[in-house]
Amino acid sequence: MENTIIIGGGPSGYTAAIYTSRALLQPKLFSGATPGGQITLTNDLENYPGFPEGIGGFEIFQKLDEQAKKFGSEIINEIVTEVDLKNHPFTVKTESAVYQTKSIIIATGASPRKLNIPGEKEFTGKGVSYCATCDGFFFRGKHVAVIGGGNSALDEGIFLTRFASKVSIIHRRDRLRGSAILQERAQRNEKIEFIWDTVVEEIQGDQMVQNLKLKNVKTNEISNFPIDGVFVFIGYNPNSELFNGQLNLDEEGYILVNEKKQTNIPGVFAAGDIEDKIYRQVSTCVGAGTIAALETEKFLAALEGKAYPGK
Ligand code: NAP
Repeated sequence: MENTIIIGGGPSGYTAAIYTSRALLQPKLFSGATPGGQITLTNDLENYPGFPEGIGGFEIFQKLDEQAKKFGSEIINEIVTEVDLKNHPFTVKTESAVYQTKSIIIATGASPRKLNIPGEKEFTGKGVSYCATCDGFFFRGKHVAVIGGGNSALDEGIFLTRFASKVSIIHRRDRLRGSAILQERAQRNEKIEFIWDTVVEEIQGDQMVQNLKLKNVKTNEISNFPIDGVFVFIGYNPNSELFNGQLNLDEEGYILVNEKKQTNIPGVFAAGDIEDKIYRQVSTCVGAGTIAALETEKFLAALEGKAYPGK
């Protein structure tokens, strides 16, 4: 019987592991398909407090991993395939084992949203990418398009100018959603051009991406746009399929929690991008993981009739 199982190995999950292992609860953390989560796809974090020079996404993941293990967290590189939250103790299944646990912290994060247009799936990995840090290098001296108008599109678009000869940011409106500092930085970058009021209708090519079929949403004009690569940054969808029908979710699939990160089932907590669709910062995920871990400690103490330290 486990005290607590943490599902997801991004900043929220790792923070929860650090806190619960330091409270001697011997947590097991299942890191899923992308250990480290979205930070490992980010080149540089410039706004994570305490690192004035910035810190690499992969580097911060390595440090979180080291810190969680130092206090006794068990990190398991497996995907959770099924959970039963209806009966307590809860059941968590992976491909290789079945676990019983008194509490669960869900930190499964979110995945890049897809355009869902013809050619996107066919050319994924053949010129279509959702990760500039992973794939930018392959586009040295090439012309790439970035789809989106938020902070991710701007941040990653700026990063891509290290490799690409030209970056065209294609946005469906005539105003950006991203922050002022990134807007200004992108607009000052000579390699970046903006294409406004435009959506991609189709991604075309032979073996690799060669062309985008674009539509101007104001004039309805259709045009061809020869291109070597497409980076899609149009937001994220919560990874909550496992919990469908077992937990209260909102209409977009985010897990509903209160300020204590409690879900509608006592003993099940959720933290990070799986429950937060507004802030989505590494710093806020760290905070959410902390709250979920402290509330888990309290829940377990009450379950066993022990006083929670300091209460
Ligand atoms: P986002 O803020 O939700 O922006 C998504 C962008 O994609 C919007 O401009 C949206 O257009 C566009 N879009 C959505 N669906 C589309 C579709 N089907 N076709 C074309 N365009 C579409 O997502 P994000 O940029 O990934 O950012 C997510 C969160 O992470 C935000 O809170 C952001 O602040 C944070 N973040 C922060 C940093 C940083 O601080 N350096 C870096 C990256 C991300 P509309 O504007 O028309 O809705």
